[in-house]
Amino acid sequence: MAAAGLRPLYIGSEVYRRAAFGKNHPLNIVRHSAVLDLVRMLGWLGDNAFRASEAASIPQLLEFHDRDYIEAIRGAEAAGTVRPNIRERFNIGTLENPLFEGLFERASMTVGGSILAARLACEGRTVFHPSGGTHHGRPDRASGFCYFNDPVYAILTFLGEGRQRVLYIDLDAHHGDGVEDAFVDDRRVMTVSIHETDRWPYSGSAKEQRPRAHNLPVPKGVNDSELEYLMAHAVLPLAAGFAPEALVVCCGADCLAGDPLSGMMFSNVALWQAVDKLLALDRPSVILGGGGYNPWTVTRYWDGLWGRINGEEIPEHLPHEAIDFMRAMDCDLIDAEDVDEAWLCTIADPPNPGTVRDAVKSVAQLSTPGTLSPTKENGR
Ligand SMILES: [Zn+2]
Repeated sequence: MAAAGLRPLYIGSEVYRRAAFGKNHPLNIVRHSAVLDLVRMLGWLGDNAFRASEAASIPQLLEFHDRDYIEAIRGAEAAGTVRPNIRERFNIGTLENPLFEGLFERASMTVGGSILAARLACEGRTVFHPSGGTHHGRPDRASGFCYFNDPVYAILTFLGEGRQRVLYIDLDAHHGDGVEDAFVDDRRVMTVSIHETDRWPYSGSAKEQRPRAHNLPVPKGVNDSELEYLMAHAVLPLAAGFAPEALVVCCGADCLAGDPLSGMMFSNVALWQAVDKLLALDRPSVILGGGGYNPWTVTRYWDGLWGRINGEEIPEHLPHEAIDFMRAMDCDLIDAEDVDEAWLCTIADPPNPGTVRDAVKSVAQLSTPGTLSPTKENGR
């Protein structure tokens, strides 16, 4: 719940209604506009709760990204093409990170949204920015469908506003590599990433633990009981030891059962509970989106998350208008016969409890505060 009794805020932009990424890309699905439309349909978004973001300025972008890279994106967009040397150097104009009309505005908007989110959170609020979560972006290149790295800016904004310690929790199915690397030498930031093992970008293994960069790789099929275990035995103890003054949480929806790009099997209910526990730390908090390639499970997760943050009761069945809305969605990566009827008519998943496997227990152990030798500190 919001600290100091202030209402949570939702940050969005109409920019996300425009087509992006192009055909045959996993992100060529409705996501941000669908999440916003459905929360409105459910009556969960009063006018006072919504803030439209503004695109980050060039000086703001330069706080993390290289000028050459920013100029390369703008130049390619203006030219409508990416020269081979630019493609090679900045990893844009590829199948993974395609050039499309409106790319620069969209990517800058996401950064601007995260800056605004952290500023508003400093008032003592929870701020939801589901279009954020581009956690793979690098200072000098695009990576993993991410051009800029908005979570980095949420963290930088908290630090700039005087917060001494910022905790970043990444629940996306993929390792939060760009954010981890951005702050690995900064004592003011702790990063914790739960992600699927042996999955792109193949970093963040169990061996990669540093005093303030914790990696919790989990096996395929990871279930709700295992998430609860990791929260209780790794994430919350780490948070307690670090005593953060602000939180940034990346809620990539690709860790849900039904996502075509991961083998993780969390229910949205388990993820809502995990976020509830983080918000119970009662710190200024920015809740971001992230990956998620099944438009139905993404929408249900993030809408329900916003509902939960606001103390709304999650309905057992969606109203007719919302069911029609869900039925109208489409996804090239999911065959029509694989669309679960429950994705169309409900918000909450059935829980997916199970055995807590040794692989999960040992990963939690690795990150336990106190098991890390202070000699592993790198001195900065
Ligand atoms: Zn992901």
